[in-house]
Formats: sequence, structure tokens, C-alpha cells
Amino acid sequence: MGKTLTPEQLQALVERLDREARQAGEWGQVASYIPELACVDPRQFAISVCTVDGQEFHAGDAGKAFSIQSVSKVFTLALALGRHGDGLWQRVGREPSGRAFNSIVQLEVEDGIPRNPFINAGAIVTTDAVLGCNAPRDTLGEILRFLREASGDEDIHINEQVARSEHATGDRNFSLAYFLRSCGNLTNDCDRVLGTYFHHCAIEMSTAQLARATRFLCGGFEGQRMIGLERVRAINALMMTCGHYDGSGDFAYRVGFPGKSGVGGGIMAVVPNVASIAVWSPGLDRYGNSLKGTAALEGLSKATGWSVFA
Ligand code: GLN
Repeated sequence: MGKTLTPEQLQALVERLDREARQAGEWGQVASYIPELACVDPRQFAISVCTVDGQEFHAGDAGKAFSIQSVSKVFTLALALGRHGDGLWQRVGREPSGRAFNSIVQLEVEDGIPRNPFINAGAIVTTDAVLGCNAPRDTLGEILRFLREASGDEDIHINEQVARSEHATGDRNFSLAYFLRSCGNLTNDCDRVLGTYFHHCAIEMSTAQLARATRFLCGGFEGQRMIGLERVRAINALMMTCGHYDGSGDFAYRVGFPGKSGVGGGIMAVVPNVASIAVWSPGLDRYGNSLKGTAALEGLSKATGWSVFA
């Protein structure tokens, strides 16, 4: 699929995207509602690409760890589907919400069933589903093990300070959790679920680690069959339709392959059977998606012809 680029051309491309990101205009606003993220310098950029033939291309701050935030929701979804199979869809939907990631308004009209697993309400439910009767510490261990195995890198950790900072200002997520629980859609108490949720959002990874961890959704990578192909297809479909909240349509239009963003400024993306990608730039657009990160993925898609709609 797309153009056949030599390794030299791909390396030159990621370097060009890094250069352009640093030159052109606005960096966007960092997420300020989580105090620990508010003090991150927005003027940073990184890109990493892993191709199915085993090559890697990096540019910018690709070794620097950042807060993956909602990108973690993809990994919790994979674990929740592994545990509950299609039964999970009794508790969370598969439709784009067309609303902000932390919106509460649809929950009442839809009887406490969040629109999809990538908005906060949906991710709180999938976290509860993975948690089950286990201790939060064990569930977080399981999430970290999945990420470490997927990336082939043990050096992936939770930033406690970020988790605490989000807990301290987490009124919106608490209100979502209490509402879900009042509808019978949380089995654990709110503190337990949110403690786990805030901690998996506070995992830190570099784009190099995240692009490698994303290989399990790509198909074609040797030794990366961590989940069945049916599940890979399901998760990619959800990332395509819901991965960027109320900016998902725009992301599909501009970039044209599945991706999931987080308010730390990271985006993981998948070109099925071709490549796994991670970008990071902490400044966000009005939907809470990385401004420069999205622009770089758009540039990458144009230069490679990797849009799944081409
Ligand atoms: N931890 C963040 C929150 O719950 C995740 C949001 C995001 O990355 N979009 O608000």
C-alpha cells in the first residue's frame, strides 16, 4: 500500500516532519486542568515509525518519556476485551460521541452506557471491567506488563506525581464515575476505579517505545500476535471512528488511518500491515488532540500514500 520508500527516504521524511514542526506557527496549548501537565514546555516534538519489515525511523525528542494519558485507553480496551470478549459491549458502545472527551451529557439519555471506550466515561467502564475483583496494584501490573511486552522494553513506568495531580483535580471524572455507578455500570467503588484509571493514564513512554508497543495492532510484525486478528480489526475500527473524540472525523479526513490521542500530546497510529507510528507534541488543538502531532501525521500520510482510503 502507498508508495515504496527506501529506508533513506523514510528517515529523511521523519527528519523533514520534525524540522517543519519546529519551524511552522502555533504550538497549541498544553492541558492545564492537570496541574502536572500544565508545566510541560509545549515546544517539543517527536516522531517514531516502525515498519513491518523490522526497520525503525526516529526524529526529534523520540527518546523522551511523556505522559501517555488517553493513549493508555487502547491497551486497557485490549485487556478488557481479552477478559470479557464481546460481553464488554453490553456496558460500553461503539459509536463516536461527537462530544468532548470528558463530556457527561449523553450518559443520562443513554442509561449510563458510554458511547465508546475512548471517551473518559467509556474508559472508566473498561478500567472497571479489567479491574474486576483484583487489587488495583495487580491490574496496573498487568497493564504495565502488556506495554512492556508489546514494546520489548522493561523501562516503562507510572509517574505517581501525575496520577496524584489528576486525582486532586479530578472532579469531572469523579462525577462521571458516580453517575455510571448510579446506573449500575460500575462494579467497583468510584475511588478504586478512578485510582486505577488515573494511574494508567499517568504511564510515561517515549515515541520510540510507543511506536514499538503499537506493533501489536498492525499485523505483519513477526512475534507480535498478542491478541487475535479479529480484535486487532475491532480496535483499529474504534480508533478510526472514535480515537480523537469530536475531532475524529477531521483526523480521518486529514490523516486517513486509525489513531488514538492523549492530552499529554501523544498519538499512537496504525497503518494496517505497513507500519506503527507514534508522535508527540504537548500543545493541543481545541479538541484536546496534539496540534503539531496531527499535522505531522497528515504530512506523513501525504508523503507515503498510507491513508487506508487511498
Ligand atoms: N487522564 C485524562 C482525563 O481523564 C485523559 C484525557 C485524555 O487524554 N484525553 O481527563
